[in-house]
Amino acid sequence: MAERVDTVVIGAGVIGLAVARALALSGREVIVLEKHDAFGTQTSSRNSEVIHAGIYYRPGGLRARLCVEGRKKLYAYAGERGVSHLNCEKLIVATSEAETPKLSAVRATARANGVDDLALISGAAAARLEPGLHCVAALRSPSTGIIDSHALMLALLGDLENAGGVLSLLSPVVGGRVAGEAIEIDVGGDAPMTLSANLVVNSGGLYADQIARSIAGLDPAFIPAIRPAKGQYFTYSGRAPFSRLIYPLHTADSQGVHYTRDQGGQARLGPDIRWDAPLGDYSVDETRLDGFVASVSRFWPTLDPARLNPGYAGQRPKATGPGEEGDFLILGPKAHGSRGYIGLYAMESPGLTACLAIGDHVAALARG
Ligand SMILES: Cc1cc2nc3c(=O)[nH]c(=O)nc-3n(C[C@H](O)[C@H](O)[C@H](O)COP(=O)(O)OP(=O)(O)OC[C@H]3O[C@@H](n4cnc5c(N)ncnc54)[C@H](O)[C@@H]3O)c2cc1C
Repeated sequence: MAERVDTVVIGAGVIGLAVARALALSGREVIVLEKHDAFGTQTSSRNSEVIHAGIYYRPGGLRARLCVEGRKKLYAYAGERGVSHLNCEKLIVATSEAETPKLSAVRATARANGVDDLALISGAAAARLEPGLHCVAALRSPSTGIIDSHALMLALLGDLENAGGVLSLLSPVVGGRVAGEAIEIDVGGDAPMTLSANLVVNSGGLYADQIARSIAGLDPAFIPAIRPAKGQYFTYSGRAPFSRLIYPLHTADSQGVHYTRDQGGQARLGPDIRWDAPLGDYSVDETRLDGFVASVSRFWPTLDPARLNPGYAGQRPKATGPGEEGDFLILGPKAHGSRGYIGLYAMESPGLTACLAIGDHVAALARG
């Protein structure tokens, strides 16, 4: 006999928690099912922790819109809730004259996305801001920052619980079915059970497609295949050399190996991008060091490779392939025709930045 609940959210990453919070604040009874023994152990804790301005994404797309809206909401929320963050700025650098025109193209895309605070500065001006930085020109982004992703998730969980929501750990979703007006979700683990929900939101990250395919009655035509695109980091021992984040010019499928730092002053380089790693492979390949050094030393010529140590790795949940630009796929009943189901696929970067806007977007879809 299935137990009745109003809303099930599958997955307790930063997006699942933000969606669950928004739904609970809108008055719904929410349970979040997470297969691991803690929240946020997957992509949400394996990223750069950057609050993105919303510069690169295709104008009019969901990533562009929800990043810009989410960034504003995130700064306000982090300020109100005391979530540790820093508006540290970023420089996007052209390291040769040939690259300089691309900065103007980046600025034009940013403007189309409503990001109109980018300033084009000379290499000399950039070096005055960040001694030791080499570039011939740069775009300065004043609204880029960094945030403690774990503290953010803790705050989202606190709001969810204050609004009556529940997080159930060690609760893997193993299948389900569309059953009339409701959706039944089978939960495995030590205490298997079946929940019958009016609304199911699938926020399973890298596994969202597998979860959707395990729910009988959802139209497979609206379940995109997720491809993991692995990215790894090296950490830098010693004082962080730059206070702003430093990014090379981006490609369609990645922002390039960049320099970031955390609020404690630990600098890191990454992520790179690999399409051949199996799902769930978080190993760090030390043989990729030379490639990191070659790309980063274009803007940081005095980088000492001996100070780089293997860091960590994450996987981007993509619905596109190498060299292709993707978008978030947030598919509600109007898109796929199944009542009571909202699927979140390809929630790659800037999902951390956009999480609050994604939560509000899903809550609006749920209202119909
Ligand atoms: C290398 C890298 C760098 C990035 N850098 C940034 C950045 O600087 N800024 C930014 O804004 N974004 C960044 N992102 C993107 C951001 O990290 C993601 O968009 C975001 O974390 C996705 O959150 P999520 O909740 O969808 O996924 P996840 O955090 O992966 O959460 C999904 C959850 O679902 C659970 N789950 C899976 N299957 C089941 C099941 N069957 N039953 C129950 N639970 C299940 C998982 O255990 C997991 O906890 C980066 C991503 C990567 C990979």
